[in-house]
Amino acid sequence: MNSSEFRRRGKEMVDYVANYMEGIESRQVYPDVEPGYLRPLIPATAPQEPDTFEDIINDIEKIIMPGAASPACTELETVMMDWLGKMLQLPEAFLAGNQGKGGGVIQGSASEATLVALLAARTKVTRRLQAASPELTPAAIMEKLVAYASDQAHSSVERAGLIGGVKLKAIPSDGNYAMCASALQEAVQKDKAAGLIPFFVVATLGTTSCCSFDNLLEVGPLCNKEDMWLHIDAAYAGSAFICPEFRPLLHGVEFADSFNFNPHKWLLVNFDCSAMWVKNRTDLTGAFKMDPVYLKHSHQDSGKLLPSPSGLHWQLPLGRRFRSLKMWFVFRMYGVKGLQAYIRKHVQLSHEFESLVSQDPRFEICAQVVLGLVCFRLKGSNKLNEALLQRINSAKKIHLVPCHLRDKFVLRFAICSRTVESSHVQLAWEHIRELAAAVLSAERE
Ligand SMILES: *Cc1c(COP(=O)(O)O)cnc(C)c1O
Repeated sequence: MNSSEFRRRGKEMVDYVANYMEGIESRQVYPDVEPGYLRPLIPATAPQEPDTFEDIINDIEKIIMPGAASPACTELETVMMDWLGKMLQLPEAFLAGNQGKGGGVIQGSASEATLVALLAARTKVTRRLQAASPELTPAAIMEKLVAYASDQAHSSVERAGLIGGVKLKAIPSDGNYAMCASALQEAVQKDKAAGLIPFFVVATLGTTSCCSFDNLLEVGPLCNKEDMWLHIDAAYAGSAFICPEFRPLLHGVEFADSFNFNPHKWLLVNFDCSAMWVKNRTDLTGAFKMDPVYLKHSHQDSGKLLPSPSGLHWQLPLGRRFRSLKMWFVFRMYGVKGLQAYIRKHVQLSHEFESLVSQDPRFEICAQVVLGLVCFRLKGSNKLNEALLQRINSAKKIHLVPCHLRDKFVLRFAICSRTVESSHVQLAWEHIRELAAAVLSAERE
């Protein structure tokens, strides 16, 4: 949608809301729909080609408005998470379908999803151990629990450990900045020998620093064997898995208990929208379920996922926004093909930047370029690269965020704008080269 259509549609939406408010007294206060009413009304998968804006707005009136905010909100969310799960070719076990055990829920952030997974895993292991040894108190168990993630994991993982009150250990990553099974196995053995209880592992697909990928095909079976909950954090990279050529990066997801990525990072859905799937939704509902009388509703014993407030037990907050609406709009406005084209373009542009950097002997590429991120630096000291970054960021034409890879200070070039073109990449590179020349000549003086 270009900006002139956006202006027109935006004004139409204001009229729509104003009309709604003017006519509100003639509307019913409580919907008549039955649980599960929505799924049969919309297709089982996202469209390949774009739909028109009119089609979507007509469906809002026909499908969403009769279900009011609830149950429409929960039901559309479940179906959108299935659409998205199918785009990623997630194993069937993660989809809600009509009566699957798994399913997806929208969280606010990847940090929340990791925390929710950790808390659910903590509850699950505590119940399992208490069932075997009823004399064990939850406090005695918690003291011994230990979780693991690679030393490249996002800081939110460590934070989840802190909030969850369990030890979290960093597993040294290998030469490709990936966690492999041997390092994890070694830590688990050592901890078990010391009387600790390994229970939770976070594998990262697309680390924040350099977009490296933990070795899921090795780590997954180890987690299953050791009865550790495996959570996958693919906050950034997950969006790319809608392209068949990047889907192999997700191989091994079948070993996971929970999987999460942020469509708000790289799939054109506005903040916030973090998509989380679990294989066994009773792991979440069992961990967080509360049943106060003010949440009672007439369908709660029907055993279905869909009755309105059941989504409330999948997350920390009680109230929730209608975030699946924006997924519905984005998936239909772009179509799967449009979204794939968007991802591919970014990846192609990052390779274009990579090739420009590689052609300049003063620079080096610091990690394999897989998706839209290029880690690079001037050959030379960290101080030199810090000086370059300082010049780049104070010129304010482009903005780069650095990282450390082992002991190296590294610059990160991330393709992320919706409207980015090759010409922008060329301009950015020219600009970086000029500033690099200035930094190098200042160094020689
Ligand atoms: C961005 C990122 C996060 C944090 O995401 P939030 O949604 O802001 O919590 C976590 N993990 C990885 C790998 C990320 O790239």
